Amino acid sequence: MSEIELQVPIASGDAEASPAWPRLDARQGAMLAEMGINCWWQETPAQEPAARPSATAAAGRRAMATNPAAARVPQQEARAVRPQAAPPVPTLPAAAPAGMAQSPMRPASAAAPSHRPAAPQASPPATAAPVTRAPARVAIPLAVVPAEVPADQAALMEAIRACSACELGTRRRHAVPGMGDPAPDWLVVGEAPGEEEDRQGLPFVGRAGQLLDRMLAAMGLSREHQVYIANVIKCRPPQNRNPDPVEIAQCEPYLLRQIELLQPRFILALGRFAAHTLLAHSTQPGAEALRKLPLGKLRGQVHEVEIAGRRLPLVVSYHPAYLLRSPGEKAKSWADLCLALDAFGRLPPRG
Ligand code: URA
Repeated sequence: MSEIELQVPIASGDAEASPAWPRLDARQGAMLAEMGINCWWQETPAQEPAARPSATAAAGRRAMATNPAAARVPQQEARAVRPQAAPPVPTLPAAAPAGMAQSPMRPASAAAPSHRPAAPQASPPATAAPVTRAPARVAIPLAVVPAEVPADQAALMEAIRACSACELGTRRRHAVPGMGDPAPDWLVVGEAPGEEEDRQGLPFVGRAGQLLDRMLAAMGLSREHQVYIANVIKCRPPQNRNPDPVEIAQCEPYLLRQIELLQPRFILALGRFAAHTLLAHSTQPGAEALRKLPLGKLRGQVHEVEIAGRRLPLVVSYHPAYLLRSPGEKAKSWADLCLALDAFGRLPPRG
């Protein structure tokens, strides 16, 4: 198969710092209106369709649905990225995928060679420079070791619901495996369930979830069609605290297995926990360094990860909960979604 060439905006701070934001056409304005974004950087004449958000948003969604590439962010600096050629035909490895050696789903024969460390190292001491800390690779005491890797999505959901591999599993009301299209084009990965998600057993059903729904609608998508929503952590951390590295490492095999079974074509990683967890599987040389970068340095570009033998494009953006706290960042989030739609539109058809 031929190589894919992606035109990717540079992730430098230049575009972000620039006061000269691109002018938006009606469709782009409608997308922003759908996301509740105030286009403060652009004058909108009263008669312009963008002044009527609901009608134009629907038109925007239709346009996006039929021509996702039309969402390209104009006037952004671009560089060409050549991901590896065609993704290999997906296969389910007989042995555990890399990273499952410390898994709550350890297969009966767990001696598979892995390119990831069998005995993960603790993270180096924090230095002053990085703004965020990457989840450490840590040795994990396993509480539960099911004999087999779940064979299908139903079995995986059951395994997640039954999991008590870490303390979160003993405190939750409901585990939250994920929801959506079982054969999705898009996989959206968040951080961890909050209170409402814990109550309902469904991902992103609180305020952040409502914003996520608006973001998806602006992309011409919905959580029921073409999209699957999952989290890095499947059980709610108490008081919605950040997940700790052990919890992330315990839960990661579930996410990897979800990706293997769902076979999405594109991943949107929302927030630093999703970004750092998934970019640990980046095909980029020196991918470990990505885990030390703050989210602002990871967004604005199309990454590539390799999970269970498949190479997948991945775009990082802000978590909707962060956008609720920092609405001024919604414009950057919108740019990331446009970048993702653009890159998605360039993918070869599902084969
Ligand atoms: N935040 C997340 O990251 N996931 C959810 O499911 C809800 C809120």
